[in-house]
Amino acid sequence: MFGSMMLNGGGYQVKLQNFIYASFDICALILGVVVLINYIISKKIDSRTSRLFLTLAISAVVSSATDFLAVLALSVLGCPRWLGNLLVTVNYLAYNVMGIVFLVYAVSVIYDNLKIPKICYAVAYALFYIAVAGVVFAAVCLFKNGYYHVPKSLKFGYEIIVYGTQLTALVFALAISVIKRVRLTKIRRLNIYFFCILNIIAIAVQFFVRKIQLSNFAFVIAILLIYVTLQRPEDEIDAGSGAFNAHTFNLRGNMRIQSGNPFLIFAMELNNMTVVNSTFGLNGGNQVIREVAGRFMKLLTKRQHLYRLSGVRFAVMFDTQKEYEEFAERCKGVFDEPVSVNETELRITALACVISMPYVTNKLSEVEDLIRYYRTSVNVSEEIITADKDAIEKARRRELVDYAIQNAINNRTFEVYYQPIYSVKDKAFTGCEALIRLKDEKLGFISPDEFIPIAEQNGKIIEVGRFVIEEVCRFIKTEKLQERGITFVDINLSVIQCMHPEIINDIEETLNKYQVPRSMVNLEITETASAGSYAMLQTKLNELHSNGFTISLDDFGTGFASVEYLINFPFDVVKLDKSLVWAYMSTKKYKPILQHYMPMLHSLGTRIVAEGVETAEMVNALVELGCDYLQGYYYSRPIPKDKFLEFIKNNGEDLRLA
Ligand code: C2E
Ligand code: CA
Ligand code: CA
Repeated sequence: MFGSMMLNGGGYQVKLQNFIYASFDICALILGVVVLINYIISKKIDSRTSRLFLTLAISAVVSSATDFLAVLALSVLGCPRWLGNLLVTVNYLAYNVMGIVFLVYAVSVIYDNLKIPKICYAVAYALFYIAVAGVVFAAVCLFKNGYYHVPKSLKFGYEIIVYGTQLTALVFALAISVIKRVRLTKIRRLNIYFFCILNIIAIAVQFFVRKIQLSNFAFVIAILLIYVTLQRPEDEIDAGSGAFNAHTFNLRGNMRIQSGNPFLIFAMELNNMTVVNSTFGLNGGNQVIREVAGRFMKLLTKRQHLYRLSGVRFAVMFDTQKEYEEFAERCKGVFDEPVSVNETELRITALACVISMPYVTNKLSEVEDLIRYYRTSVNVSEEIITADKDAIEKARRRELVDYAIQNAINNRTFEVYYQPIYSVKDKAFTGCEALIRLKDEKLGFISPDEFIPIAEQNGKIIEVGRFVIEEVCRFIKTEKLQERGITFVDINLSVIQCMHPEIINDIEETLNKYQVPRSMVNLEITETASAGSYAMLQTKLNELHSNGFTISLDDFGTGFASVEYLINFPFDVVKLDKSLVWAYMSTKKYKPILQHYMPMLHSLGTRIVAEGVETAEMVNALVELGCDYLQGYYYSRPIPKDKFLEFIKNNGEDLRLA
């Protein structure tokens, strides 16, 4: 910029040689234009930071362009003086605001999508007004009688303003980025430091060595570096949905947590996306995700962003309860319009919760745990669930249990216990039920009632089930259970396992591997209310049945079993749930009901097992009722293999009922 000043002062007598002074400007201009063009045509994120970056790049280009053009216009082309003066004035303005724009840019990187403190604005505005005042002064001097006719003291004053505002802005930016360094990732921190230090040096050099025009060049170099390292949308945006990615969510969320200000996270998971994916393929699924993300992005204000946490999970952060509530209001009806995929209209729904940070949790990683938790514990609702501390405790436990399950799968540390089953007709223990046990190093014993539903939810039940089947088959084979009078072993299969396409192959392969006859394995299935899977479950069970397996209906009396269910499914055995058995013993009303059921069940050809038999009194009553088998603590709790072998050896000719 001082190149052009000298031109003016020198009475336009300057030769081409002056270009040398402007050579850094030419380089700066070329580089700046390249950055600007690249930035404008590339995919951008519409955020405060990116808008500021654009302003920064434009001011750098204008500053170097006008500096160079002034030289060109006046010393080479001999343009009228007013044009030169105009270019020089624009140059002063652009040059003077560059540092201030950088200050605001740096602050916006530091505070990212948080509110910027007022002091930063105050400093930036103050510097801006001082700089503008300086420019006005210089412009007046220029147009009146050329800058070089201005008294030396005033000229010096002007230079102090030009360099002073730039330096103050840079030093202030450097100071804030050092003080707030924990908020910045390493790369951001280094970039801001580099920018400030490089430009402080450049200004110093330019001030002392007047003939070198380093300042614009230094700015552009620093801007180029920021462009290639920080302003990269692909680092922040999830290409599939157009929302911000999980990395950015973590970065910004953690910044908020560190800032100590409370905020809210709205988190949601789309329902039934596995069905969409399996029906319409991954492309169809992606189409839905993009459409839904687009609808939500339209509901957000400029400072609110949609983040894609993973596959079908999204989040938005809010500064205040009010902002969140306004958003929640706007959300109503967002799914009213169906999403069309391959000309099919799909109704999309989602499970959503709102989490008060940091009261409910101060760990971002728990946001997804919470959604997972609600997914299994709450009936899918239209309402946005407000997450509470109780839920986070349960969600934490869930995650620990989930981890324990994975550990036990990896290290094969599950155990299978066996509970003897007494045959009333044979007056002997002719069978047993295999029941899985999980003992975790940290959590201790975890009940299957707790971990089986979790394993079902995360799909690990398939691996768990394989372990049980393998263990049972190995046990039958190595201990020759048949020779010990055991004619069947019950294996529990959850409905999710039954639906698995490989289930029949899996079981058959394992049976063949250990040469265990099918009749030795009885599969227990718990009745289920999920109507959607009814037909498929029926097909699977029929297939298993026609392949020679016997099947039990487990937990009869707890759920939704109807006569229709018993008729349509190939059950060989019905297991009366312990709660029903206990009710039968204690509540008069149950007696006629069960007594009425028994002949009906028998007439369908099913055998009946009573679970939860704890006393001799129960044994007598249940035998009288007509149960074929009895199982419960009265005989034995579920016990490990060796204890079980001991048990049947000692009770081989148990004639307690004789
Ligand atoms: P379930 O299939 O109804 O198993 C019977 C449960 O009742 C067992 O609990 C057993 O220990 C308990 N029990 C048996 N007799 C008595 C009694 O007289 N009194 C009382 N109070 N309880 C008795 P457990 O072992 O805790 O298993 C709980 C549930 O976990 C099982 O209920 C079953 O649904 C599931 N489960 C266990 N092992 C497996 C497995 O290998 N695969 C699958 N998918 N589920 C399993
Ligand atoms: Ca069972
Ligand atoms: Ca049961």
